[in-house]
Amino acid sequence: MRMNAARAALLREMGLTPLWRPREAPPLQVRTAAVPQEKAKPANAPEKPANAAPRRAAPELVRLVREQAPAPAPQTAPAAPQADAQEIAARAARIAQLDWDALEAEIHACRACGLCKERRQAVPGVGDRAADWLFVGEGPGQAEDERGEPFVGRSGQLLDKMLAAIGLRRGEDVYIANAVKCRPPYNRTPEEGEIALCRPFLARQIALIQPRLIVALGRPAVLSLLGENLPIRANRKQFFPPARVLGNIAPMLISYHPSYLLRNELEKARAWEDLCLAAERMAKEKGKH
Ligand code: SF4
Repeated sequence: MRMNAARAALLREMGLTPLWRPREAPPLQVRTAAVPQEKAKPANAPEKPANAAPRRAAPELVRLVREQAPAPAPQTAPAAPQADAQEIAARAARIAQLDWDALEAEIHACRACGLCKERRQAVPGVGDRAADWLFVGEGPGQAEDERGEPFVGRSGQLLDKMLAAIGLRRGEDVYIANAVKCRPPYNRTPEEGEIALCRPFLARQIALIQPRLIVALGRPAVLSLLGENLPIRANRKQFFPPARVLGNIAPMLISYHPSYLLRNELEKARAWEDLCLAAERMAKEKGKH
């Protein structure tokens, strides 16, 4: 990809200029060790109280999301109580029939998990409802909770710059959503059970949008979209086939959440690699039809 003056300016804004490599250059060294990614806490986020509840173990979510997946994976975890499983399945089936207006109304009224208690408002998503690109993040932060739109704080500004760097604009052939639609208290990472209960909404958004490509930003997005708790670094640079991705509609690429990039400047170069890879794949997808 030839870097013109405008793109160079955008990359400077992303803090990538000193780190960016032309595609012809040898790829940046990628460490292969599976290092768990921690989402950076926004600078203005209050400290998490010492008595905050610990996160639940991943296997519970893996079990819950697999129950909702279109092509269920073999069950290795204990089955849910029959009544719970039936209730979850019935709710997911009902949500899968909603149109856009009904879906957004349902999200705004949802009280399925504890995140409803402290939200100002639910944040369904924003953008082109027939977009080729779907970016999925983690959950609303304080600014998003106030505005009712995902990615409007500092991480949103960075995401907009990242989109611009590959010729995209929010709302134009791009839809942006989150794994959970309500703000987790203290901007903590959403729990696995919360992601599972919100997953039918994301599944329905995917079905309505019919994107050509999904980009998962951060581990909660990966967990919701794949039903697997995978580390980011070790699973970048590959396209997960539609059959493995929520909705069974589009391939998926994994990259870093913008809020993580704000605290880990060196990873911006890898995020840029991911975006270039995604742009190449999108060009191929569009060439098919
Ligand atoms: S996060 Fe999702 S499941 Fe939980 S209350 Fe909000 S909309 Fe409902």
